[in-house]
Amino acid sequence: MATGRFAPSPSGRLHLGNLGCSLLAWLSARAEGGRVILRIEDLDAERCPRRYADLLEEDLLWLGLDWDEGGSRGGPRGPYYQSERSEIYRRYFDWLAEQGMLYPCFCSRSQLHAASAPHRSDGQVIYPGTCRNLSPEEIREKSKKKPPAWRVRVPDAELSFVDGHLGPYKENLAADCGDFYLRRGDGVYAYQLAVVVDDALMGVDQVVRGSDLLSSTPRQIWLYQTLGLPVPRFFHLPLLLDSAGERLSKRNGSQSLEELAGRYTPEEILGRLACLYGLQPEPKPRTAASLVADFAWDKVPRQDIRIPQGWFE
Ligand code: GLU
Repeated sequence: MATGRFAPSPSGRLHLGNLGCSLLAWLSARAEGGRVILRIEDLDAERCPRRYADLLEEDLLWLGLDWDEGGSRGGPRGPYYQSERSEIYRRYFDWLAEQGMLYPCFCSRSQLHAASAPHRSDGQVIYPGTCRNLSPEEIREKSKKKPPAWRVRVPDAELSFVDGHLGPYKENLAADCGDFYLRRGDGVYAYQLAVVVDDALMGVDQVVRGSDLLSSTPRQIWLYQTLGLPVPRFFHLPLLLDSAGERLSKRNGSQSLEELAGRYTPEEILGRLACLYGLQPEPKPRTAASLVADFAWDKVPRQDIRIPQGWFE
């Protein structure tokens, strides 16, 4: 049986962008008769207070998007809040360290973003390897000034996979991704490690998320393989853009559920989203449950989707 998941980072109220992602994750799992897990990605606990996670549950349930396990509901593979899972991440981190795959990195943010650093097409910096070969002496000296972040050495190898929606995608890990960090200087584990460990240990075999995370997927697949964990299927969905073609963001409060709920019913919101995602020709109101039978990935556009003016205003 398929197991999908919602994996929100609740740093504010649910907004249309993550709502679209939750809807497709839910439909994709339910259309296969599968289960859904709610995992709260609150690694950065200060930015993601519990109150937002609780509101997020209310918002999802108001929309009719339920889950079988996770969140405040708990379940056999908890805890389901990443902020409570550091001990689990530490085991995997320590194992990688024992294999000699990690090294401390003392570079500051400004050094990393220096104009000379190579950038990926999505704007992220490719780590130039500054701290890759520090001597034990240099590490000792630098550690006196600040606690290091930890990076993993990636091989000079191509990693390709077939996305269930967007098709083949590949990257050379060294040239296109670079050594990425797994733990911050303050001890907080990185999303890239947490998401892999959690999806594997929670039995998730279907990852549905925005195409902004497509370029994180090769390094995550490499981590699954390196850690000996089963690799899930990935489906990346197009992003929703506003009528001017800009990406939606939490800063745009008018598209938060809090605002939308005052103006639309759940069925109106879902019906419009279903139309944008190609699941019905007209934006007529629909319940989440009624959309399961209409769901198929090949109906969903591959290009980012512009929301027509006036639709969620
Ligand atoms: N927590 C991430 C977000 O809210 C999603 C991570 C994932 O789906 O892998 O953007």
